[in-house]
Amino acid sequence: EKGKPLMLNPRTNKGMAFSLRERQILGIQGLLPPKVETQDIQAMRFQNNLKRMSDPLEKYIYLMGIQERNERLFYRVLMEDIEELMPIVYTPTVGLACTQYGHIFRRPKGLFISILDKGHIRSILDNWPETNVAAVVVTDGERILGLGDLGVYGMGIPVGKLCLYTACAGIRPEKCLPVVIDVEIASISLINLCDPFYMGLYQKRDRSQAYDDLIDEFMEAVVDKYGQDTLIQFEDFGNHNAFRFLRKYREKYCTFNDDIQGTASVALAGLLAAQRAIGKPITEHRVLFLGAGEAALGIANLIVMAMMETGMTQAEAQQKIWMYDKYGLLVKGRAQETDTNQEAFVHDSPGNVQSFLDAVNTIKPTAIIGVAGAGRLFTHDVIKAMGALNERPIIFALSNPTNKAECTAEDAYTITNGRCLFASGSPFDPVTLSDGRVFTPGQGNNAYIFPGVALAVILSGVRHISDTVFLEAAKTLSEQLTDKELEEGRLYPPLSNIREVSVQMAVKVVEYVYAKGMAFRYPEPVDKNSFVRSTVWHTNYDSFLPDIYDWPEQKSHQN
Ligand code: NAP
Ligand code: MN
Repeated sequence: EKGKPLMLNPRTNKGMAFSLRERQILGIQGLLPPKVETQDIQAMRFQNNLKRMSDPLEKYIYLMGIQERNERLFYRVLMEDIEELMPIVYTPTVGLACTQYGHIFRRPKGLFISILDKGHIRSILDNWPETNVAAVVVTDGERILGLGDLGVYGMGIPVGKLCLYTACAGIRPEKCLPVVIDVEIASISLINLCDPFYMGLYQKRDRSQAYDDLIDEFMEAVVDKYGQDTLIQFEDFGNHNAFRFLRKYREKYCTFNDDIQGTASVALAGLLAAQRAIGKPITEHRVLFLGAGEAALGIANLIVMAMMETGMTQAEAQQKIWMYDKYGLLVKGRAQETDTNQEAFVHDSPGNVQSFLDAVNTIKPTAIIGVAGAGRLFTHDVIKAMGALNERPIIFALSNPTNKAECTAEDAYTITNGRCLFASGSPFDPVTLSDGRVFTPGQGNNAYIFPGVALAVILSGVRHISDTVFLEAAKTLSEQLTDKELEEGRLYPPLSNIREVSVQMAVKVVEYVYAKGMAFRYPEPVDKNSFVRSTVWHTNYDSFLPDIYDWPEQKSHQN
């Protein structure tokens, strides 16, 4: 590419950073203001503009605009201020952006595949301009964050997740493909009727065999085009489909479900860190979940694995985990059905439990984990009860976005007088108690896990991703927290450090998968650390100057 098209392509555009020679050679001299700018100045321009904006959605639109114009600059700005900007490109603002996707739409990002395209997915993939895709994030939009069914408006999620693949783990952006599968939305009234800008099909969500066939076709088309080891991350599918597809595809493709497995890993890492603070082994904990869906079951199963590593039996470990859903405690013989995924955590009734508070007082958990997506259900009384039962209660309010969190950081720290170990899914500001003590809440953000795991999987040619990989990732993450950070109330390393955290995690996971015979990339790199680091993508501009050199005069002329 040369000339204007090269400038219009965000992957090659450098804006005013094209040098005079480049401008002349590429045929764009005169198409830019005369000044030749450094990337530093360009980044400063965007940072200044962002600082002037107070509305998060405005920032989201602005950032996405940079991504559409100059990709390297976008990632540079994102990485330099990841703690500030992650809540914009990811939860919570991405949730707001998804609900308004048709209103704020500028340029399409990612690939849209609808149920009407059945039988033609392979040819749609051929329309995607990149030939070297290594990772796909796919959603069908049915359970976007805790916001419910948003249909194709859910595209913001795979786009945002893949931004973090690059920003956190240095995976090259052209290797990443965001996909939304449009099988329409469950509640037509919700979007179609009142939103003239909705961008998907106007029909009722397909729940027939045709939907399953579509996903099958999609999986086959992806590996046919990009190879059997292409990583496919499932994101924000409805509960029932998420579990089914994970089971169906995990041995056949290189796939994982972030809502189940990524969440499990980051939550377990938080528990392992909390345990460091409390000094009690994981086997002595009793965990009560609010919610019994993808996140709860994923976390619960990984906790069981962690407990079993210390010698407990599976049954003993499962006995330490309780769940409370929309209908109350999961107990044997209750009127409402439980599904097979939940069976291991359905126990004999411990007595009369009418509310979540009753459940806390009856079960006496050391940890409560909120993943119901139903708002502030860790009430004052619940938090108080946890504080009365435990010297250091563990309180995780993981539901997203912020207004769905089970409690605020402020409530948790104030009501327990600073004794609790708190983590949330969406970010909360540090809390200052009346006595002046400051606590920095942990953000149990999946972004601590999936980019590093993805990098490791891609680099080592893993074919099937075992749950033990997520156990390993959780341990690695909790080990990266310093004692000082733990004292500040943190359960996770500061987000500002996420790039190094992700790369170190990738190194550990690469070591792990080679040691366990799960890696298929040969020859095995001897020094895993320098191997991983050598692949990490950087945001410096490439030069477009051709490789110019001279031949000795006498050799190139006939004498
Ligand atoms: P899900 O599979 O739909 O599960 C939701 C669960 O909550 C279901 O068991 C549901 O019960 C239960 N529930 C709903 N309303 C309730 C209520 N009023 N009281 C008690 N239980 C209730 O969803 P998910 O994937 O697990 O996600 C749940 C939430 O966790 C979302 O807000 C999501 O954003 C958040 N999450 C956070 C992270 C993170 O922070 N790292 C990661 C993943 C997910 P029924 O089945 O009976 O409806
Ligand atoms: Mn998700």
